[in-house]
Amino acid sequence: MKIYADNAATTQMSRTAIDAMTDCMASYFGNPSSLYTIGQKAKEKLEEARAEIAQLINAKPGEIFFTSGGSEADNQAILSAAEIGKRKGKTHIISTSIEHHAVLHTLKKLEKQGFEVTLLPVGESGIVSVDEVKNAIRDDTCLVTVMTVNNEIGTIQPITEIGAVCRERGVLFHTDAVQAVGHLPIDVEAMHIDMLSASAHKFHGPKGVGFLYAKKGVRLSNLIEGGAQERGKRGGTENLPGITAMAAALKESVEKMDTVAERLTPIRDYLIKGLSKIPHSALNGDRNARVCNNVNFCFEGIEGESLLILLDQKGISASSGSACTSGSLDPSHVLLAIGRVHDVAHGSLRLSLGEDATLEEADYIISAVSEVVAYLRGFSPIWRDLTTGKKEFIL
Ligand SMILES: *Cc1c(COP(=O)(O)O)cnc(C)c1O
Repeated sequence: MKIYADNAATTQMSRTAIDAMTDCMASYFGNPSSLYTIGQKAKEKLEEARAEIAQLINAKPGEIFFTSGGSEADNQAILSAAEIGKRKGKTHIISTSIEHHAVLHTLKKLEKQGFEVTLLPVGESGIVSVDEVKNAIRDDTCLVTVMTVNNEIGTIQPITEIGAVCRERGVLFHTDAVQAVGHLPIDVEAMHIDMLSASAHKFHGPKGVGFLYAKKGVRLSNLIEGGAQERGKRGGTENLPGITAMAAALKESVEKMDTVAERLTPIRDYLIKGLSKIPHSALNGDRNARVCNNVNFCFEGIEGESLLILLDQKGISASSGSACTSGSLDPSHVLLAIGRVHDVAHGSLRLSLGEDATLEEADYIISAVSEVVAYLRGFSPIWRDLTTGKKEFIL
């Protein structure tokens, strides 16, 4: 059996997105900045995509800025808010300890420039408390940035409530919604969002394209200087095939969202139930406030990397920590933030199901993981210490 269960890392492009992309490449090769008809046809296509995307998150077309993906959108949003803040003498930023590195590393850079960053804890559930956000806001706070859905443990953050608090206090609110757009309903007005980042390859669009929503009146700074594209906020000839495909992918994902959630939730729950039967294991992140395709477990006494390699041999593509941290020996900052100790955090497995996942596949995953975990524990020195009482079990 071949099972791709790493949709939080990237998704397969949909047929609709591929068709939109190839049609655009074949029929709209002009430069949207050119004044003749071929260029203007491309420009129309670009603005069509912008209007479509805007409508799908209840924004206005003029509030959508195309980027090279989620990371660029995060960088631009945060650096812009910092620039706005600095002009007013406000240099305090609030975020959480479980953000994506595109956010955390940008905040680190700002700290070196004199900004003060408060990273709120999330507790065992992996959900930030609205009250803690409220209490952390100061007179000199220029930005609150909290992700909508965590990419590792799938937890859904109370974005609408945080947005309301920020709006009331007059603080800019950005959300990295890369794992949410196309998966959960997004309404930037109702959710009081000032800036939002999204990435096409997380909702069956192509890689290397995304967008930043910035509410009218929020002045963006440029990361890329160049021509007057994207209303002067992002130089460079637009990635029209990518943008067109992104709009098509998002439209389809939003249309399918409810049926997918209805279908996947019981399969996710079945997987959680099955994997919980493995001794000394634990689910990571809140049991209920999580996206419908995310299952993340820790298994004591094993290494996540070995688990992944053996699962791959059984045809299962999964992940341990995030794709960006795998390859390094540090355990996931998200698992540490929810209170997992180093040894336990090392033995983690993230399964992010595809839309067409089935119960039969879930059964196959449960038996494959159970088998591989038992096998690895058979020659793990940590497991031997645990079973002989030299070390105490944590899970
Ligand atoms: C994937 C991801 C990103 C980065 O998006 P890219 O388009 O790959 O740059 C940022 N934030 C989160 C939460 C993600 O899952």
